Amino acid sequence: MIKKLIPLFLSAVVLISACQSNSKSKTNSDSLEVQGVDEPVAQDGITEENVPQQKGKIASAAEILARPQVPVLCYHQIRNWIASDGKVGRDYIVPTAEFKSQMKMLADSGYNTVLPDQLYNYLAYGAKLPKKPIMLTFDDTKLDQWTVAMPELKKYGFKGVFFIMTVSLGRPNYLSREQVKKMSDAGHVIGSHTYDHQNVKKYQGEDWVTQIEKPTKTLQEVTGKDIKYFAYPFGLWNKEAIPELKKRGFSSAYILAEKRDENDPLFTIRRIIASGYWNTKTLHNSIVKSF
Ligand SMILES: [Zn+2]
Repeated sequence: MIKKLIPLFLSAVVLISACQSNSKSKTNSDSLEVQGVDEPVAQDGITEENVPQQKGKIASAAEILARPQVPVLCYHQIRNWIASDGKVGRDYIVPTAEFKSQMKMLADSGYNTVLPDQLYNYLAYGAKLPKKPIMLTFDDTKLDQWTVAMPELKKYGFKGVFFIMTVSLGRPNYLSREQVKKMSDAGHVIGSHTYDHQNVKKYQGEDWVTQIEKPTKTLQEVTGKDIKYFAYPFGLWNKEAIPELKKRGFSSAYILAEKRDENDPLFTIRRIIASGYWNTKTLHNSIVKSF
């Protein structure tokens, strides 16, 4: 099916990379040439999204780091602000109408959502991606990701990645197991975001079981699928965590906007937080400048 894809044309866009752990996008001196890509949908209607991970010898870290980065957005809550939301907290709360406008802007601008297997195949094996690829990720298991985000994604044929804290499943205002299962069945990807959002840099001994192994098992039971992707709580990671994640079956892991690890770029894939203060224009500027 993938072989039926019609190669289209190459386009080049100069993007400037930013390095920052939270949402404020700041440019630095790195610049990249992004080359595009391919027709996103096969003729028989099977999209590239459900292409499984390729096997074989993967590219070197240097080769992976040299590939143009794909923009990855990180959302948390999607709801209107209330008086008690703090100044910093509002960075993590995108008002509903704003989120809707952002999804429309992405669709109108010709972006195509990609999923972690596709990004993995691209980074590790140089596989083709659709034109103007972007990944939409959602952290922390909030219910509004089901009630607000899902219908908007569906409207534009977008697929998202939901990084789940298993402690929250079924709690009031959080996603239920049934909802997570339905998201997975609908072609969205479920990833792990630990048991209860503890900082990975502090894990010792049994913490790896509590925060990583058990939640992975829970999410596998809920979805009936392998759980291969991880997002570090707070975007915090260290070199010691990477072999621990590999040992437990993860294929790649997502940080926030800091620099990627020079030896393990697949375990330090960059994302930017889509700030609640942004409108479609600032979001678009950040996408272009940050990757
Ligand atoms: Zn989180």
